[in-house]
Amino acid sequence: MKITSIDTFLMHAGVPDSGGWGARNWLFVRVHTDEGLYGVGESSGWPRVVETAIRDLTPLVVGQDPFHIESIVQQLQVAMMGHGMTGVVGAGAITGIEMALWDIKGKALDTPVWNLLGGKVHDTLRLYTHAHTPDQCLRYMERGFDAFKTGGVTEPLGKIRTLRDELPDEIDLMADVHGPPWLTVPDAIRLGKALEEFDLLFYEDPVAPDIPGAIAEVARNVNLPIAAGERHAWTWGVQQLIEDHIIDVVQPDTGRAGGLNAMRKIAALAETHFVMFAPHDGSLGPVAEMAAVHLCATLPNFLILEHLEDDVPQRYEVMEPQPEIRAGHIVVPDRPGLGVDIVPEAIAHYPSSGNIASPRTRHYVRSRAHRTRWLSASPKRADFN
Ligand SMILES: [Mg+2]
Repeated sequence: MKITSIDTFLMHAGVPDSGGWGARNWLFVRVHTDEGLYGVGESSGWPRVVETAIRDLTPLVVGQDPFHIESIVQQLQVAMMGHGMTGVVGAGAITGIEMALWDIKGKALDTPVWNLLGGKVHDTLRLYTHAHTPDQCLRYMERGFDAFKTGGVTEPLGKIRTLRDELPDEIDLMADVHGPPWLTVPDAIRLGKALEEFDLLFYEDPVAPDIPGAIAEVARNVNLPIAAGERHAWTWGVQQLIEDHIIDVVQPDTGRAGGLNAMRKIAALAETHFVMFAPHDGSLGPVAEMAAVHLCATLPNFLILEHLEDDVPQRYEVMEPQPEIRAGHIVVPDRPGLGVDIVPEAIAHYPSSGNIASPRTRHYVRSRAHRTRWLSASPKRADFN
């Protein structure tokens, strides 16, 4: 079997005028072969830019045997060396192609991708969703969800305190402050210490991910599991965080970490250091989520999978079949390959527009002003001594 061509499908995946979400785009990839079989994948990492990268890479992939996945990935990494470190844009381009190759292989061998990645440890995977008020959580709890993430940059402490006060004790809560560049290490420690009493499943991206030593300083001073990794690619992006025992939960993004093989290597590195695996999924489309499901099904150190319940309407139109979700868990499918296909006619209804969070960027930069408000709700630094 030989690869003959690659199609890309870029779409708008946000809510109009909704700021950050309004800028969300999804990029799906279809890799075709001379036997009529094709595979689907999804790339994140700045989808509109990644689409161009995939066009540049396509001539290197055409004519190759789609079964030799690792070899193709290595060739694409070498092809990008002249552009500097690969980063999440380059890794995102490789990821979409790589994911589609796993789909081809599974379909050709008539077996699910999880079977190619080592076999199933889990038949279903626990999900968490985003919820910021007790009412939202209660609505999702009626569907069986028992784990929620909130936070943001404006009032993370107040939101967590309200949820912990109003919800049953057995509900798991997570705080994500998205590692804004204006948040200092001492502030992240102060916030983390104030969050300790709420017994979080994890405290995510307490500072910007660029300096592992900064996250390490937070981790040394805060008695909560620390999670990070969504903005990194390859094992190298998270190596120090894992090997130095800085983080407790690693969160690679299934659309831009470098592909399912790269994710599997990250998971193995994490497992050897007692670090749990909880892929980032908040901005991803449904194909990458399904790829994460196949991988996570094989992992003994899988913790929990991010999932947007009640996402934008187009999510439920552009892929079929839709995942089966039962009582807050996603069912690992038994169909060959990834077990899903994209719907190009539906994707065409949502033309790509913008792909940067410009409407709210100023708001976000100014969020340092909110720091005073949410830190004033936390104990003073002297109280920790
Ligand atoms: Mg996050």
